[in-house]
Amino acid sequence: MTQFTDLAQGQHYPAGALYIVATPIGNVADITVRALHVLGLVDRIAAEDTRNTAQLLARYGISKPSIAVHEHNERSAAERVIGHLRNGERIACVSDAGTPGISDPGAKLVDAVREAGFPIIPLPGASALTTALSAAGSWAGTFTFIGFLAAKPKQRAAQLRTLVHGPSALVFYEAPHRIVETVQALADTLGGERQLLIARELTKLHESLHQCTLAEGPTWLAEDANRQRGEFVLVVEGAREQEDAEDAHDALLATLLEELPVSSAARLAASLTGASRNTLYARALRLSKPEEE
Ligand code: SAM
Repeated sequence: MTQFTDLAQGQHYPAGALYIVATPIGNVADITVRALHVLGLVDRIAAEDTRNTAQLLARYGISKPSIAVHEHNERSAAERVIGHLRNGERIACVSDAGTPGISDPGAKLVDAVREAGFPIIPLPGASALTTALSAAGSWAGTFTFIGFLAAKPKQRAAQLRTLVHGPSALVFYEAPHRIVETVQALADTLGGERQLLIARELTKLHESLHQCTLAEGPTWLAEDANRQRGEFVLVVEGAREQEDAEDAHDALLATLLEELPVSSAARLAASLTGASRNTLYARALRLSKPEEE
């Protein structure tokens, strides 16, 4: 390992700084060389669960004093962290798994440390979010990260209604006991036709990636109890309305172009649909010269 960690030594690691360090989301080998170097270098580790982190770090031969920074004490723990930064310590912030601040403690600590004027140095690494997206494909090229939805059906439905028209793919985190119910709620509110990637137990022994439509999701999960076990990321295709509208505009323009010149067809289509005349003109121009496409 030493020859790898040498690679990380070329960089300056200032004292009196907070290092945000991503840790594995399952497979203990998914930690970066720089993360190991920094975890070995820091004076103290601010950890979501100090016991979990101590166990993880023991696997890499690292042992450090720690401060618990979890969702119920993040503000007050931040004051302790800032006290140590004032003494010139380097502190690493880690969560139980993946990247701190992503559906995990860390963000409030970052706010407080920045406000106190100390540098924050992020180290990239594992996250269930990017791991699932990297295997989703081109339909998830732009995305909105939602994380966990509200547990109560009414609140969840209200939350989902605000997302219905967004063209970006949506990324959710979910726990095993709610997975079927959540996929059903997604299908009910967003419509059954959208693509869904069910990414389960990423980087672990029972990793599985299954792509289907939202309508097919609940049945696929119900067919085998094993498919409902473990940790989940759900990636759902964005709304297709823009595309549908463009198709409808093209169909209208094509009909009008049979009788009218481009500018008249665009003007008429704009007054019929309320869409932008310039956009329709550009569309009509292209439709009238298909051989140049
Ligand atoms: N900070 C973490 C990250 O960067 O991904 C997320 C922490 S959040 C408390 C835990 C949730 O992330 C799980 O309930 C699950 O939805 C998702 N998750 C974490 N590890 C996962 C894995 N190995 N496979 C699938 N989903 C995972």
